[in-house]
Amino acid sequence: MRPHTILILLLLTNGGAELGCSPSPRSDGAATADPEITAFIGQIPAVDNHSHANSVAPGDSDHDALPLEVIAPFEVPVQLRPENPDWLAAYKALYRYPYADMSDAHMSELRGAMQKIATEQGDQFPTWVLDQIGTEVLLANRVAMGPGLAPPRFRWVSFVDALMLPLSTKAEAAASPDRQKLFPLEDKLLLRYMSDLGVPKRPRTLDAYLKSVVTPTLEAQKKAGCVAVKFEAAYLRSLDFEDVPASSASAIYAKYAGGGEPSSADYKALQDFLFRYIAREAGDLGMAVHVHSFNGAGNFYRAADSDPLLLESAFNDPMLRKTKFVIVHGGGVYAPHAGAMLWKPNVYLDMSAMPLLYTPSKLATVLRDWLTEYPEKVLFGSDAASFGPDMGWEVAAWIANKNARAALALALSDMIRNGEVSRARAEEIATMVMRTNAMTLYSLERK
Ligand SMILES: [Zn+2]
Repeated sequence: MRPHTILILLLLTNGGAELGCSPSPRSDGAATADPEITAFIGQIPAVDNHSHANSVAPGDSDHDALPLEVIAPFEVPVQLRPENPDWLAAYKALYRYPYADMSDAHMSELRGAMQKIATEQGDQFPTWVLDQIGTEVLLANRVAMGPGLAPPRFRWVSFVDALMLPLSTKAEAAASPDRQKLFPLEDKLLLRYMSDLGVPKRPRTLDAYLKSVVTPTLEAQKKAGCVAVKFEAAYLRSLDFEDVPASSASAIYAKYAGGGEPSSADYKALQDFLFRYIAREAGDLGMAVHVHSFNGAGNFYRAADSDPLLLESAFNDPMLRKTKFVIVHGGGVYAPHAGAMLWKPNVYLDMSAMPLLYTPSKLATVLRDWLTEYPEKVLFGSDAASFGPDMGWEVAAWIANKNARAALALALSDMIRNGEVSRARAEEIATMVMRTNAMTLYSLERK
């Protein structure tokens, strides 16, 4: 069974690149990818900026703070539906699937092959996947890491929205049916963070909350190997985090610390303050800050609230210049706005989710715009995640890798043909996007 709703979970995954795989020719007669640059890109060991890789723990429940299945069902774009031949191609490449259809009998054979490899590989399964798809290092955005996801091949990106929500979220949750499902997950995660620190209940003052919950949680994440913290705030509110004085935030916190429902204006101001506090602390600890910025997902998601331009005032905050921000999913429909933010010295973006949701030619157009401006700040990312038993994170990772490499080849081929870059520079840019930009950003050691 592969209903579209299962595919929802894949929204945040990015495509997997098959080494040496050629991009599909464009049917509109436009230029195709240069075979040399395609081959060059095919052999670059990737650093994947964003995924929700699963551990090998049975029923792995830490793969996402806000798993999209809780707001399902919703229709996903065509590229993510089972009829996209990319799925079959991934089955063939990863599991030697010999059929050209997905009949029940054949799919049950496929499940057998998947099970066999998972059993053979055991804790090594996630590493086996990276070896198949040509990824050297995969950043895993998870509540916690787990068995099979050890550094240096896997690096942790934690979730920090919960730290921004210390007061009752009941009124916030009433804003939409999706938020009704999502806010309780944040409440639960904050309680987990507090329990990890041995803090039994909400501190009475903001200062005490910052000192006994927020900073120690970030320090513990850093100590556990976290390279970045992630906000998926766009599922919960708008990305306009204003500069709110500590005195105002403290007064709001104190008013509701003992209970009661904060007004939405009060709660927004407190969240705005906490976003900047968390971003500053993360920067001081040497962790980047990832921010989800895309048109979805969900039936009640507010795309307009995820515009990366809304982040500009935070990006411009002189107190946050030590913090490196990454616009995750490149802003989606706002991709040019994400590109505009690259003028800031501390802002990067990744293409994650796009290699799963866009065709290579559409993604090539997006990349081309970014690469003609700030190629040193564009990162490959997959958003590989599990869509269900037949659509594990490894299948999504393979597809995203293939499509991302194909798109990058199309974009760079076009730039070579137009005389905008030399072949040598195109190869340099390809290596930066697939690998070295992320290595520099996260200070990852080179092989
Ligand atoms: Zn994601």
